[in-house]
Amino acid sequence: MTINLQRDEVTTKTNRINSEIIYDRLCNTLVAGVNSPVRANRNLLDPPLVVHSAHGAMIRDVDGNEYIDYCSSWGALIHGHAHPQITENVIERLRMGSSFGATSEIEAYWAEIVQGCMPSLEAMRCVSSGTEATMTALRVARGFTGRDFIVKFEGNYHGHSDGLLVKAGSGVLQLKEASSAGVPNGVVQYTITLPFNDSESIERLFSDPMWAGKIAAVIVEPIAANIGVVPASLEFLQTLRQQTEKTGALLIFDEVVTGFRVGLGGAQGYYNIRPDLTCLGKIVGGGFPAAALGGRKEVMNCLAPLGGVYQAGTLSGNPVAMEAGYQAVKMLKENPMIYAELETKANWICHTLQRTLHKERIQGCVQQVGSMWTLFFGVDRVTNLREAESVDKEMFRRLFCWMFERGVYLPPSPYEAWFVSTAHTREQLEQTTELLLEFLQQG
Ligand SMILES: *Cc1c(COP(=O)(O)O)cnc(C)c1O
Repeated sequence: MTINLQRDEVTTKTNRINSEIIYDRLCNTLVAGVNSPVRANRNLLDPPLVVHSAHGAMIRDVDGNEYIDYCSSWGALIHGHAHPQITENVIERLRMGSSFGATSEIEAYWAEIVQGCMPSLEAMRCVSSGTEATMTALRVARGFTGRDFIVKFEGNYHGHSDGLLVKAGSGVLQLKEASSAGVPNGVVQYTITLPFNDSESIERLFSDPMWAGKIAAVIVEPIAANIGVVPASLEFLQTLRQQTEKTGALLIFDEVVTGFRVGLGGAQGYYNIRPDLTCLGKIVGGGFPAAALGGRKEVMNCLAPLGGVYQAGTLSGNPVAMEAGYQAVKMLKENPMIYAELETKANWICHTLQRTLHKERIQGCVQQVGSMWTLFFGVDRVTNLREAESVDKEMFRRLFCWMFERGVYLPPSPYEAWFVSTAHTREQLEQTTELLLEFLQQG
């Protein structure tokens, strides 16, 4: 486990009295006072950020301090916080009832607009979290192929279901063990883990007669975002596509982050590779708990009630979440310039960072795809988990605290992506850039 630093080593923004009181209260009832481990910011902040409210790109804590937010709910909020169009439509939808346990028309609106952008999703099933989407995609792949083994890549994070908590990224990286306690060996014995961006190892696996006819699926983050932003090479993804096609295994793209982030067509559009199954989450929920899996019709039709693969959910396709997601995607689809504008915003920050690293002779790099990026200290590039592990975590900690004290909230880990939203203003970006510059220049 990560070591909790002494109070005087972590940032102590003077005016955080309410945060402290409320966090102490939270700790009385919730494990570490949080409902997801990365929110505890254990080695960065004490107390962690305790949010009161948020609008646009600004997040406000319970002491009235305001921060420009680059975590953006881990990428879910591509339109920023409390976007009026999402908020108004959600309120109207909410007045019509919040859950029916029966199908409703808003699910058609959501599914049609998503499918229109990502045609590989011939048939879909909505769920409530990215974790459920990847877990179900694997079950469908196993049901369809009649095979048991799956392949995942080191540092790729696919949520917290048992079989996928092997050498995973995100908060799991902060655990000293490669995996999680509480997962039986019997479960992970069906998970084969290979290095990311290494075509040779995947070719070796698929040409090994020992594995012939045993692998149900390969699941991949086409642009890894949970060890920081680490894009797959085109050649790597093409190899995955060829090898799976050749051997009858399914290719699953986990686009929970990249879907509607790197373009309307997601990473599959960006690389022009058609996976058999796709997992979506984050942006497609518009800030609400909605996620989905989808893909080839013959594969997806293995799901109950048409097929023998069981999956269900009381809140799946929840009308309020569907409304939020539909509005979020609709705004992206209706403005053909939106992705170019987002990228321009990211460039303002990323180009300055790059120039300054170079000028100040600080070892580090900025890895950017469109509106998401990571600043890595201490390395010249990161293409896989091994390279990610050698980043300078202490330098990141100092940057995080320094920025936080000055009103900028970065994603609270050196292994996360920074996201800009359509709500970030030029002034906010310039302010951020100046602060970053100042930090890097003072060394
Ligand atoms: C966030 C994430 C998940 C898990 O989604 P949850 O909604 O947190 O369960 C899965 N895959 C990737 C790539 C993610 O970034």
